[in-house]
Amino acid sequence: MIAEAGRDLSVVGATVLDADGLVALPGLVDLHTHLREPGREDAETVASGTRAAALGGFTTVFAMANTEPVADTAGVVEQVWRLGRDAGYCDVRPVGAVTEGLRGVRLAELGAMASSAAAVRVFSDDGNCVSDAVLMRRALEYVKAFDGVIAQHAQEPRLTEDAQMNEGVVSARLGLPGWPAAAEEAIIARDVLLAGHVGSRLHVCHVSTAGSVELLRWAKSKGWRVTAEVTPHHLLLTDDLATSFDPVYKVNPPLRTAADVEALRAGLADGTIDCVATDHAPHAPQDKETEWMAARPGMVGLETALSIAIMTMLETGLLDWAGLADRMAIAPGRIGGLPGGSGAPAGGRPSRAPAHDVHPAGAGALSLSAGAVANLILVDPVARWTVDAGALASRSRNTPYAGRKLPGRVQATFLRGRPTVLDGKIA
Ligand SMILES: [Zn+2]
Repeated sequence: MIAEAGRDLSVVGATVLDADGLVALPGLVDLHTHLREPGREDAETVASGTRAAALGGFTTVFAMANTEPVADTAGVVEQVWRLGRDAGYCDVRPVGAVTEGLRGVRLAELGAMASSAAAVRVFSDDGNCVSDAVLMRRALEYVKAFDGVIAQHAQEPRLTEDAQMNEGVVSARLGLPGWPAAAEEAIIARDVLLAGHVGSRLHVCHVSTAGSVELLRWAKSKGWRVTAEVTPHHLLLTDDLATSFDPVYKVNPPLRTAADVEALRAGLADGTIDCVATDHAPHAPQDKETEWMAARPGMVGLETALSIAIMTMLETGLLDWAGLADRMAIAPGRIGGLPGGSGAPAGGRPSRAPAHDVHPAGAGALSLSAGAVANLILVDPVARWTVDAGALASRSRNTPYAGRKLPGRVQATFLRGRPTVLDGKIA
């Protein structure tokens, strides 16, 4: 726990770490990570993915349910939660599937997953959209009982059959089947209406269009319990990159236009979009390094997320460090139901509570004040580093930033006071 915060603290008996020139932030929280275990350990494991997360400054990641088998039972979510705990790099909070097998036909065992050791609060069929309006309504109603949230991958399936990239000028020129903005916006419009109607919590995954931002702004103005995330790549990259036919730029939802990027940045700055989430999507070479049409969509992102946020939001003056801490740690922690979301001491425990008394499913340090869990990171704000895809801790190499020089470097990550990263390396 953080015992004291401030200037000129007593250091008698303490280990002193020279952090001159570094910025301290709460440990980052990622609401949207694909760890691929169980089932696709050739692309990522819980251990390799959480090493990447720690290096990127994360102390909690929410692991998406589209594994093999799908995380749609208490047994699978508890397995993922235990793998995270045993690896020890980062707290892993499993996301439960909304429907059995992500098939969109019958609700999964939401209550059993919520009351399991993994204490699931976020449910998503991510990869697939819960497109059936009645099922979506039932899921929203069901999770109200334990203040859960449905995280929707907003993609109208019929409007995006065979879609390969954003529908627009570039897709027309390349002759690739397009993915209209309306396919995302139609689902968001329907879902915010449903969330408002039943009074439940909806979270919209990876918002990618200017129209989606407008819909969210409208839904929030109604007082509905709607939150949303944007990925680092949608804050920076645009659909004209597809002209290279390099499948590293193929992602779901697709890269959009510069006008969309501008609207997403503005939405994140003014809080219409609540947080950044990576959608870290590792893929093995045989699934990704192939021709565009056959390649799986997705990019790895845990180790570059903070740098891209610094580049797009901090260096542009849209957010300051406190704003960045909110969008990458405090807001996602609150949405995911981590204790201490209000900035109060985690779990309301006294500030000198012993470390072993901390919430077993992964309490998040959501503030840097005395009494909070000591999940924090030290960032070198002036460092520049060049992304080497082969040197990433992730088991996969599908980063769109290979060879690119990025600002900001995580020097240290502390998980409940214990260093997981020191001097930019796994401790
Ligand atoms: Zn998704």
